[in-house]
Amino acid sequence: MDPAELKAIVRTIPDFPKPGILFRDITTLIAHGRGFAATIDRLVDRAQMADASAVAGIEARGFIFGAAVAARLGIGFVPLRKPGKLPLDTIGIDYQLEYGDARLELDPNAIDTGEKVLLMDDLLATGGTACAAVDLLREAGAHVHHALFVIDLHELGGGEKLRAAGVTSQAIMQFG
Ligand code: 5GP
Repeated sequence: MDPAELKAIVRTIPDFPKPGILFRDITTLIAHGRGFAATIDRLVDRAQMADASAVAGIEARGFIFGAAVAARLGIGFVPLRKPGKLPLDTIGIDYQLEYGDARLELDPNAIDTGEKVLLMDDLLATGGTACAAVDLLREAGAHVHHALFVIDLHELGGGEKLRAAGVTSQAIMQFG
């Protein structure tokens, strides 16, 4: 399936989670067997170029795509979690979203110092979440130079924000 066919499987929901927001919903994409498989194939092709020894995925939708890609590459998966979920050592970062505050947490023992880590999430919008994730991974000792998304809402400038942080981003679909 080509990117246009995959885009057509993503559902668009107006006014979620707030009036005026057009939410791109990947539920329909992961429910579509061939569409999900083709999405993972395309992500794996791009992930290979990052030459990473682990994939870090952002809770929760980043787990779905990131874990599948890590398994296909035969490398580890590192979860970047919402607050209060990790049982042992935890480092965290607070950041601002378009609509409210948020926090990500990580067990620093999941990263070897100097390890090359590929960051993954379902969607890049303003880049606030991805940049916070990069900062947290770097605090744990990771080298992060590449980020990979299913969808880039390119008009919101997340790609430029990541580039300014020294991270190249790629996505398999763009929405305006
Ligand atoms: P950002 O921090 O780049 O502004 O927002 C990206 C984060 O919010 C990602 O973790 C993503 O899952 C979530 N997000 C924001 N807007 C959407 C959307 O329209 N669809 C989906 N699936 N996730 C979104």
